[in-house]
Amino acid sequence: MHTAEYKIKSVMLGHAVGDALGVPVEFTPRTVLDRTPVTDMMGYGTYNMPAGCWSDDTSMALAALDSLKAGKVDWGQIMGNFAQWVHAGRYTPTGVLFDIGGICRDAIRRFEAYPAAPLQCGPTDEYSNGNGSLMRIHPFSLYAYFCGTRDTALIHDASALTHGHLRSRIACGIYTFVLWALLDSPTKAAVQTGLAQAYGHYKTYDENRTFLRLYRDIGQIPCLAEDGTVSVDRSALRSDGYVVSTLEAAVWCLLTTDSFEACVLKAVNLGEDTDTTAAVAGGLAGALYGLSAIPADWRSQLKESTSIESLCAQAAAAWTKA
Ligand SMILES: [Mg+2]
Repeated sequence: MHTAEYKIKSVMLGHAVGDALGVPVEFTPRTVLDRTPVTDMMGYGTYNMPAGCWSDDTSMALAALDSLKAGKVDWGQIMGNFAQWVHAGRYTPTGVLFDIGGICRDAIRRFEAYPAAPLQCGPTDEYSNGNGSLMRIHPFSLYAYFCGTRDTALIHDASALTHGHLRSRIACGIYTFVLWALLDSPTKAAVQTGLAQAYGHYKTYDENRTFLRLYRDIGQIPCLAEDGTVSVDRSALRSDGYVVSTLEAAVWCLLTTDSFEACVLKAVNLGEDTDTTAAVAGGLAGALYGLSAIPADWRSQLKESTSIESLCAQAAAAWTKA
């Protein structure tokens, strides 16, 4: 049985490695990656950053973890940490912000104008369902898991800091059910268990139908599917910045591969929003295969990995204190 610290590092570093693998080819079309696929950690490309540089996905996750590591939730402090990332380059691999989504940027501005209402910063309209809360939800999922409060309301609020529409909140909730099931039992069957729990939990919401393809055709959960094999092929899968695309693609990559490395490379090579798809897939793959399965060469190239590991260790110590 692995320790809390090991599990937290598995998820946080799995996510960061996926992010860093995708950064150099973010926005690259699938057709281009089909000809020249990513096979290893690379530098430069889209943002001209050296190899191992992770982006906003990991920055926002670290900003959240830096607050949550105290063992309590302080929404204002978390939004304040996001603002420090934007204005001071804190929680970045090189001290400079190079990637930020429009919805997140606007939510952080809203917080600075109305700091008393952090949970009202994320827009609630249907067109604000980018993957910007899903890409940074894992520290909240980990906190809820280890602090004994497996509470989806906390996850929904965490999404609403930047993405308040129910679809984004449920996407973060589904991811969290899958992650919790993987932390309980690191097997592929647990992915299906987590999806089935999410399906049951959100059954009364009309919005749950948005995720039917994930539950039934990708997840093959027993109450909806018959034959148990993933029935969505790669050409039917999108890998853009829409939250539903990212969640579907991440779970699909997890279920159709058999190693950490294969999962995150498959996610990157779907193209378009490569860093976020691979980051979300990488967090789940970290939970499934464990820290030791992340290639040592990738971990050693990851920028600021010592600081990430230190934050994880501090969180583990605080969260598991009797
Ligand atoms: Mg990014």
